[in-house]
Amino acid sequence: MSAFDYDVIVIGSGAAGLSAAIEAAETGASVMVVEADDHLGGATRNSTGVVYAADTKTQAEAGVEDSADALYDYVLVLNQYAVRPDLIRMYADRSSGMVDWLTSLGCEFPANMLVHSDVSGVERGHTSKTFGLGISDVLINRAGVLGVETALGTRVDGLLMEDGRTVGIRSGETELRAPCVVIATGGFGNSPEMLAKWFPSAAYHGERTWAVHRDAPFILGDGITLGESVDAQITGYDRGLIQPTPCFDSRYVEAFLPPWIVAVNESGKRFMAEWDSYAVCGYLINEQPGRRCWAIFDRKTMVENGDDLSYADPYNSGLATSSWEEITIEREVEKGVVHKADTIREVAAMAGLDADAVEETIRVYNRDIEEFGEDRVFRKDGNGRPLSPVKEAPFYAVEVRPAIIGFTAAGLDVNADMQVLDTRGKVIEGLYAAGETLGCFHGKRYAGGGTSIGSAVIFGRHAGTVAGEQALAARSSEPAA
Ligand SMILES: Cc1cc2nc3c(=O)[nH]c(=O)nc-3n(C[C@H](O)[C@H](O)[C@H](O)COP(=O)(O)OP(=O)(O)OC[C@H]3O[C@@H](n4cnc5c(N)ncnc54)[C@H](O)[C@@H]3O)c2cc1C
Repeated sequence: MSAFDYDVIVIGSGAAGLSAAIEAAETGASVMVVEADDHLGGATRNSTGVVYAADTKTQAEAGVEDSADALYDYVLVLNQYAVRPDLIRMYADRSSGMVDWLTSLGCEFPANMLVHSDVSGVERGHTSKTFGLGISDVLINRAGVLGVETALGTRVDGLLMEDGRTVGIRSGETELRAPCVVIATGGFGNSPEMLAKWFPSAAYHGERTWAVHRDAPFILGDGITLGESVDAQITGYDRGLIQPTPCFDSRYVEAFLPPWIVAVNESGKRFMAEWDSYAVCGYLINEQPGRRCWAIFDRKTMVENGDDLSYADPYNSGLATSSWEEITIEREVEKGVVHKADTIREVAAMAGLDADAVEETIRVYNRDIEEFGEDRVFRKDGNGRPLSPVKEAPFYAVEVRPAIIGFTAAGLDVNADMQVLDTRGKVIEGLYAAGETLGCFHGKRYAGGGTSIGSAVIFGRHAGTVAGEQALAARSSEPAA
């Protein structure tokens, strides 16, 4: 009998883990996926299911011209080149194939669900017709067909090491051995301790901070803990996606601010187009003094526009929720969370803002809209509706913070074969990683909606192929029993 129980063990069953398991199994390796939760799918299954890709059949059908080179250049420029060109290049070159692969497994990415999910001006957000659940379902089905085994309710808490290489995993008293182990445990959005250590600008908001991963309870950064236990390099400090929220108790998953508010910082000045993509808004707020801003608006605009939730759902997912409705805002006024007054000066003062500055900001905004019909400074798009001036009492001021975590981006460092690197830059033999547990892929800015699942699938597949091949090579070099 082999000294190993499996050729490849994958920790975690989201898009990265299942993609790795499938490709490892395709090489002929025996594969076990170990999952802490009581079902497969991870945060991936709860997601909107947008994948980011260039030069795809879906784009061609929609008449969108694009290329891998354009995607590559955009991500590098957006991040001022402070990203790993080898990984971005691999992503760019494989993104179209990733969509084809998911399609071949049963996913659909209809042309009418192709969206702008970034700030490149090119529609690269491919929305799965059955959202994240559909993506995880097809991966689960394919893994099953290939004979991948799964162990649910099994949280891995240790890596087995022999002579400096990884030879398996531990969960409590149970040990499983394999020459290749893939860490695909996702991010750490649900762990306040990990956030304080690795994503302090998100943790800054204290009790207000929460992650959209809340329904996937084991998104706790175990990949980092496991990696640290074997001297793995942790990288990507303070990176991730943060989305703006009024921090009400309702805790709706929201990524966009409504176009009809005017956002001012602590100095009472505007600093962004309020309805800009969540690829940029959270970061822009985070860069303001106090890492916060205030939404100023009047009741008339809120009532006239509050029924239109399309601003919150540019991906047409039908999953959008909004805190920016009259009933919610008035409830928060009663609780003293939202300020309401008869003049702009009064409401600004209640929020602790400089009344002169806010009054001037609103005057310029109103003048531009009334006289010129547009937001001349920040060039805000009204989402198909004309922008309204903020001029009829009562007025409101709502504090907004970038406190919803869309994903975390600190984690393990890997080489281009997805092999985990130690603190001296050396490969930890037998150990691979992919997905949100990586700290070396995303830059300081979120390139766009879909790069998280996209990278989980692309790098998960690659990790699985390399691990499978390595494991089979290890098997064939074992002495005969
Ligand atoms: C509501 C929502 C909407 C989103 N929308 C999008 C989108 O449209 N596009 C996009 O690109 N991204 C989106 N994201 C982010 C994206 O879903 C994730 O970043 C991505 O799916 C991560 O995939 P993963 O395979 O790395 O990890 P996950 O899918 O999170 O899977 C990790 C798995 O590892 C398991 N695990 C953790 N620790 C252990 C352990 N010690 N032992 C065993 N198992 C363990 C977890 O239980 C989990 O099942 C969204 C996320 C959410 C929650």
